[in-house]
Amino acid sequence: MVNTPELADRYLMQTGRRLPVTFVRGRGCLVYDDTGREYLDLVAGIAVNLLGHAHPEVAAAVSKQAGELIHTSNLYFTQPQVELAQRLVELSFPSRAFFCNSGAEANEAAIKLARKWGARNRDGAFEIITTTGSFHGRTLATVTAGGQPKYSDPFKPLPDGFVHVAYNDFEAIESATTQKTVAVMLEPVMGEIGIIPAAPGYLKRVREWCDKKNLLLILDEVQTGLGRTGRWFAHQHAGIEPDVMTLAKGLGGGIPIGACLANPRADVFEPGDHGSTFGGNPLACAAAATVLHVIERDGLVGHAAEMGELLHSSLGDLGAKQVRGLGLMQAFEFEEAKAKPFQQACLEAGLIVNAVDDHSVRLVPPLILTANEIERAHAVMEKGAG
Ligand SMILES: *Cc1c(COP(=O)(O)O)cnc(C)c1O
Repeated sequence: MVNTPELADRYLMQTGRRLPVTFVRGRGCLVYDDTGREYLDLVAGIAVNLLGHAHPEVAAAVSKQAGELIHTSNLYFTQPQVELAQRLVELSFPSRAFFCNSGAEANEAAIKLARKWGARNRDGAFEIITTTGSFHGRTLATVTAGGQPKYSDPFKPLPDGFVHVAYNDFEAIESATTQKTVAVMLEPVMGEIGIIPAAPGYLKRVREWCDKKNLLLILDEVQTGLGRTGRWFAHQHAGIEPDVMTLAKGLGGGIPIGACLANPRADVFEPGDHGSTFGGNPLACAAAATVLHVIERDGLVGHAAEMGELLHSSLGDLGAKQVRGLGLMQAFEFEEAKAKPFQQACLEAGLIVNAVDDHSVRLVPPLILTANEIERAHAVMEKGAG
């Protein structure tokens, strides 16, 4: 058998740490490695595979579209792109969409939009308030927007114009707002740092502040969007709408696609302002339209809310000092530094979980997760935690 980890060592840049497993196929919430071992997957390609692995309708849509038209560039119209934009807008809030290929690019578009909006509407204001611990991507601008110096410090000098405040601290946003401020950019639930939900009332107060001070509210729903939290979009829990919302991760069912949606107030892009060669190509849009269709037809948003509650309560007896999350976006934090050995023990027992650091474990399973699968996962985690 090919030694994939050894080849990866030689031929791939060492940008991340990989677990010692090589996956070759999957079905639903199950995935199989190159020795034929089965795993129950509660990470889903990091909150990407909303419909699980190898969903037959996504596979069929991709295959059909690939046989007709894969790519044209954005020099022309294509039907799948327009149809996907219409569906996303109908599901979210009055807006228009820009398509790209990843979460970082969706946020990059949002940042550029805010800067242009500030030049026009706020006397050249350009500063964006973001939060410590947030994650917005790995491009220079988005890694600076994100509030985790471990990801940005090695790449100094960083772009100007980002101010970080503590998450869930509304007063800190008030005090950080100046003439130079153009926008507040937040995750409705901080994901990458280990699932920190917005405190009750926080998003609503930030929305009101943005209205009062004439700022844009940018919500990064790259991880929280599309049913993940038990609503189509996490901001709907707070009863508010952002001016700009970014999506990616789950949108294409595993095919790379990102989107930036802006309401009429924020939508200041004009021809020539921004672009992407691959962004919103027919293949990715056909996949995404199918993902949205299946989520809706199969009632997966409500199902995610229900399974989220079940998952949350099942995590209560693992000896963690805290269990936190919203819908199928859950994490638990151990007092002891045992998240990584826990992740390894689970992997060896056929369960995929994600240790975000030494203490916290993140679960972002497919929305199709069942009660039986939660039970099966719990049985493994109980042993792993012991
Ligand atoms: C994953 C993530 C991103 C970055 O997405 P990429 O597709 O990896 O560029 C941005 N924001 C949030 C909230 C994310 O979870």
